[in-house]
Amino acid sequence: MTATVPNGITTRLREAGVVGAGGAGFPVHVKWAARVDTVIANGAECEPLLHKDAEIIENFAAEVLDGLRLAAEATGAGRLCFGIKAKKKGAIAELEKHGPSRRVELSLLGDYYPTGDEFELVHAVTGRLIPPAGLPLEVGVVVNNVETLLNAARAASGQPVTHKFVTIAGAVARPATFRIPLGVSFGEAIEAAGGSTVERPAIFVGGVMMGRLTRDLSEPITKTTTGLILLPEDHHLVERMSRPVTSKNRIGKSACDQCSYCTELCPRYLLGYDVQPHKVMRTLGFSALGSDFWSKWGDLCCSCGLCTLYSCPEELYPKEACDQAKAQMRRLGQKWRGPDLPLEPHPMAEGRRVPLKKLEQKLGILEYEQPAPFDGRDWTPRLVRLLLKQHAGAPASPLVRPGDRVTAGQKIADVKSDQLGAPVHASIAGRVTSASEKEIVVEA
Ligand code: SF4
Ligand code: SF4
Repeated sequence: MTATVPNGITTRLREAGVVGAGGAGFPVHVKWAARVDTVIANGAECEPLLHKDAEIIENFAAEVLDGLRLAAEATGAGRLCFGIKAKKKGAIAELEKHGPSRRVELSLLGDYYPTGDEFELVHAVTGRLIPPAGLPLEVGVVVNNVETLLNAARAASGQPVTHKFVTIAGAVARPATFRIPLGVSFGEAIEAAGGSTVERPAIFVGGVMMGRLTRDLSEPITKTTTGLILLPEDHHLVERMSRPVTSKNRIGKSACDQCSYCTELCPRYLLGYDVQPHKVMRTLGFSALGSDFWSKWGDLCCSCGLCTLYSCPEELYPKEACDQAKAQMRRLGQKWRGPDLPLEPHPMAEGRRVPLKKLEQKLGILEYEQPAPFDGRDWTPRLVRLLLKQHAGAPASPLVRPGDRVTAGQKIADVKSDQLGAPVHASIAGRVTSASEKEIVVEA
């Protein structure tokens, strides 16, 4: 299918509720209003055990490339690039089959973590470094996740976002990638993957590195759910991440020996940004008099989790210290950009990359590394819970009331036209059984 660029593509994107599907949820009509020279499709997918982007490319390459072409036309970009790991042979073959007529440059990336980080990707593909605390468009680039591009291509022909591609993996009987109606419960999604293979699973939503931990099977799938990774409750990773923040801080305060491994392996530091988690760790000890000073070295951290889950030999929590430092900087109304010097990657940056296999080994999840093939089944949920904040910006407000009948794809909530945000559409046909400020429930 070749999409044509309609007039007002950004209006169509907005009306279709297209937001960043890689996890950020930023409304795409705002992003595409920029003028840049390069657009990059982000198919780098580096979170352990997640395979949804590769599956999307393998199964919907033509539409993803249509979306990339639309992004280029909307932003005025003359250069179309595709970042993908060299190991994804099947996906690359599909891109090569559909790509040549679309002038797309393939950037084949190594199998490292975190290759999919925008700062990493823009540098790998274009050689440009995004300014500290800046955006890709400041170096003439717009980056979109491959699912976002697929949704954009469909929005151009009038299809709103009603489903989400999600990998269900880890301790499940049949790891797979599904296209799930928004609002389906985690429990129902996990059952589609054959159910949990352990009695008491903990679920990492969005991945083990950058995701969050939950045990709540009633949570709904949203526009930013990329994957559900199940691990047994007694898995070391679950135990580590379940610790309360006060305990993480207490251990850090007493055990950090300032070895600085967390900094020396930090991908942002290695790219040339002034992130130094070992200095941020000092905030834990100097909380009464020094945190205002030490917090700045966490401000450019992207929360990739590598320092906490891979680099620190003491198994401390420098990433969490950086998260707190960033919150502290926000409270103080301060921003750290580093010294006023040209950015330059560390001379050892290449040699200190973290191979995904090694990371999975360290995390104790190698046994769960399996394919998660696309399963294109039809879903017939009994009910869906559609959250009104599935995107960056203001939550949407309901346009329907309990008792109303809705059709699949009908707009049921929206934000004001002058607000950052996106509308929400019904993912199934049925009757609205409740509508609050937080969510709308539709029963089939
Ligand atoms: S790697 Fe761990 S022990 Fe070393 S400085 Fe960082 S937080 Fe402290
Ligand atoms: S989480 Fe740690 S390793 Fe990752 S960017 Fe932040 S400080 Fe660096």
